[in-house]
Amino acid sequence: MLPLTEIDNDIELKDIIYRIQAVCRLLFGTTNTYKIFATEKEKIFKSAVPVQTTPQLPKNVKHPEVAELEQKCLQCGKGHKIYAKLVNNPQIDKDFQSKGFVPFPKDNKLTCDCGYEMDLGGIRNEIEIKAGLKVLDS
Ligand SMILES: [Zn+2]
Repeated sequence: MLPLTEIDNDIELKDIIYRIQAVCRLLFGTTNTYKIFATEKEKIFKSAVPVQTTPQLPKNVKHPEVAELEQKCLQCGKGHKIYAKLVNNPQIDKDFQSKGFVPFPKDNKLTCDCGYEMDLGGIRNEIEIKAGLKVLDS
């Protein structure tokens, strides 16, 4: 069992914890991707990577058929052009794949040529909320 400490009684610890909370709030509010490291000695390292390109839905369209985005690899910087199909129209696959886009990954996992794996789950949610439609498998 870990000893429990009443944090409000420990001014130094309290300060650290409240600072972590503030950072977390900041990160969760501004980005989909975040990493927080804390060591035993209560040193805190944070590294936040910028938000991926926001998915683009056609403007002024009541029923968008497709969303597109470019995801940059966080390791090597390679750009990945991705489309998310919102209606069942094979022509979309044809058009976008001929433009060098890849379908939105079924399991939300995009693996770069360099081996780095990115989770697009947050982006899928964003698209589905914005469009009010489910992303379909291609
Ligand atoms: Zn890469």
